[in-house]
Amino acid sequence: MYAWPASEVPALPGKGRDLRIHDTATGELVTLRTEETARLYVCGITPYDATHIGHAATYNAFDLVQRVWLDNKRQVHYVQNVTDVDDPLLERAVRDGEDWTHLAERETALFREDMTALRMLPPKHYVGAVEAIPRIVPLVERLRDAGAAYELDGDVYFSVASDSHFGEVSGLDAAAMRMLSAERGGDPDRPGKKNPLDPMLWMAARESEPSWDGASLGPGRPGWHIECVAIALEHLGMGFDIQGGGSDLAFPHHEMGASHAQALTGEYPFAKAYVHAGMVALDGEKMSKSKGNLVFVSQLRRDDVDPAAIRLALLSHHYREDWEWTASVLERAQERLAHWRAAVSRPDGPAAEPFVEQVRDALADDLDAPAALEAVDRWAALQRAEGGSDMGAPGVISRAVDALLGVAL
Ligand code: ZN
Repeated sequence: MYAWPASEVPALPGKGRDLRIHDTATGELVTLRTEETARLYVCGITPYDATHIGHAATYNAFDLVQRVWLDNKRQVHYVQNVTDVDDPLLERAVRDGEDWTHLAERETALFREDMTALRMLPPKHYVGAVEAIPRIVPLVERLRDAGAAYELDGDVYFSVASDSHFGEVSGLDAAAMRMLSAERGGDPDRPGKKNPLDPMLWMAARESEPSWDGASLGPGRPGWHIECVAIALEHLGMGFDIQGGGSDLAFPHHEMGASHAQALTGEYPFAKAYVHAGMVALDGEKMSKSKGNLVFVSQLRRDDVDPAAIRLALLSHHYREDWEWTASVLERAQERLAHWRAAVSRPDGPAAEPFVEQVRDALADDLDAPAALEAVDRWAALQRAEGGSDMGAPGVISRAVDALLGVAL
């Protein structure tokens, strides 16, 4: 489906760095020696509610990944899905007496607006679960025919025992996996499963729920993990550079996805690095739909908050950190934006290049956005204190902030 329009990324003098990034599977920083085209998959939204700051923080992290790669003269092949049929979406539609397809379309449209306003670069392929069903069904059939999946009362489950690398993405023990499986949409206590952790690949049609032709699987709808695997394999293939999402996706979603793909192809690994963004809290608790403590990007926009300030607020925290959204986080970002805009409004200033290099170094080092902001702060402080005679320096800073941080000054 259509994603959203791309904001232009200005070219900068010089060349960026190879990206070093934290991989959840190894627990270490890895330097990604990407090929000419870097490949990125980031899990998208389930469109039953508006984009909150927690989502925006996650997509901000992977937008920085793209910008580091682009600055390093790589092409970027970025794929994102939208889970436009799933339990939470159907439940919300029933609760509100709304057609589930209308709900999904409306919230996906709002997500596109939010991403555009925040200058997040769009994926090359933006693919809905529903449109991916014709690709998902044959994969489930293949897993079943290879003995890596089994039927239980018409539903089809993946057997985690079929992948010898199962458990390597999250590194969790069986007890922790079981607890998280129950919390995050799994059904570890369903009788008849070979392993309590086995996730559903295909759910047989339920009364009053939408279903699709599943060929030999019978009518039904796909599980969440196989959805992302089908889309990633079609558009990126095995061994792509980064599988990304929020830290709550490491298990079960990314663990299961990797195992599905590895069992299907016999190849390893699914992704070279599994990268996870921290969670954002409000009033001391993780921002989540179930708790209702959400700050929506669209609401901030309606309140006339400059999207560039929202973006700077996100950038003021390291992507792996769990942090709390407060009024003062936004106020500090608004002050910073005003300082920077004043500093680049003059035709001349202190030489820009050393500061641009500091921004590049910071971002290539596990996306250290707070350090990148401090480098721009130092240039802006110098501009204010002493000025400088380098004609065009403010323009270079302005283009670097746009190209590397996605902030329009
Ligand atoms: Zn996913």
